[in-house]
Amino acid sequence: MSKFRINPDLVLKEKVNWEVLQKLRPVQIHPITVKHWSLGGNSGWMGTSTTTIRTCPDGVGQFQHFVHGSIYYHPSHGAHEVHGSIKARWKSLGWERSVLGYPITDETKTPDGIGRFNHFQRGSIYWSPSSGAWEVHGAIRSKYSSLGWERSFLRYPLTNETTTPDGIGRFNHFQGGSIYWTPSTGAHEVHGAIRAHWKSLGWERSSLGYPTSDERVVFGGDGRISDFQGGSIYWSPTLGTRVLTEKVKIHVKILTNPTGFTLNEQFAAMQEVFAVAGIRVDWVTTENLSLPTLNDVDVGGCTMGSVSSEQTSLFSNRNFVGNKEMVVYYVRSTVPAYNGCASHPSNRPGCVVVRNSSRWTLAHEFGHILGIHHVNNNDRLMTGNGTFNITNPPPNLTNTESRKLRNSSLSIKL
Ligand SMILES: [Zn+2]
Repeated sequence: MSKFRINPDLVLKEKVNWEVLQKLRPVQIHPITVKHWSLGGNSGWMGTSTTTIRTCPDGVGQFQHFVHGSIYYHPSHGAHEVHGSIKARWKSLGWERSVLGYPITDETKTPDGIGRFNHFQRGSIYWSPSSGAWEVHGAIRSKYSSLGWERSFLRYPLTNETTTPDGIGRFNHFQGGSIYWTPSTGAHEVHGAIRAHWKSLGWERSSLGYPTSDERVVFGGDGRISDFQGGSIYWSPTLGTRVLTEKVKIHVKILTNPTGFTLNEQFAAMQEVFAVAGIRVDWVTTENLSLPTLNDVDVGGCTMGSVSSEQTSLFSNRNFVGNKEMVVYYVRSTVPAYNGCASHPSNRPGCVVVRNSSRWTLAHEFGHILGIHHVNNNDRLMTGNGTFNITNPPPNLTNTESRKLRNSSLSIKL
């Protein structure tokens, strides 16, 4: 009669351990049947079979359909069930002959407790009540995994992996953002206000092209940046989004560590105000210098184009500093006492900033280096009354000042 020598319903009813039974009376039962039993057999949620066990069209594995699902068997991965919306998605992609291959898990509850997934040989299908079932695979799936799957800000996929309109890349949209991939850029996430701005410009067909980084925190502050092939998008709670098309490269050399605002706070402040001009601030290297005789550096009148012998000596320290790159020297004090001073020897662009400077001194001095001058207005970065007196952080840059900064020979096209 049946090919089964043991009644599966009896096995379940008597709670006989199948593995123990196999040792006592080894019999050949197909792994698909064993899986069906483990799910409750004919009286379980899968119900009765609607087909016999058949070889898959790819000739490698076997399958059997049931009233409420299917079980697929692969010699290397064993037998696993698929059902419901996930099964429907897998079917729509072409079953085991799809990009996903065979299931390597049963349908499983996600760690967030909301959704369900099956992993397959070469990808996954994720389902939740609000998103439906969609596949992720390859480098995009690896990125999704590295961010923490559905528990990341991305939550659940809203599309299959899809070719971009320009025909070069691939993407999945998710509830909380997107992952974009190309062979040359790899896979990167983009989300939130930065994604909305990129979308408004035309996604990858905009001048920005594809993302080349995930979104990152700007110098430990509130700002965020995503890099793209043709520039960056900056966001901060105060400014909103700005497209950055230029960069400045800055090296830090420390004679005395800052005692007030940290380097991160000063660089974050500089990035926020320079974002108005469309300029990204890249902090390239940091070096400690032991130069006690230059720690209270004589800056003379601190006028552009005129430097003291101590400034000449200090600014000769340019380890690691390339062409069009600049240096900020952190010192104990200047003589006479200023927050900072941007006068520098020709062809050695840089400035000094004192250890107890204001939050905005760094940005102000680089403003000078890039060619903008003092104004008598404490709402603006270039106030000549001292940046401690700035009244509306982040301080204003006018359009003219922004244009001058962008057009400086020390601004580098992104
Ligand atoms: Zn100044």
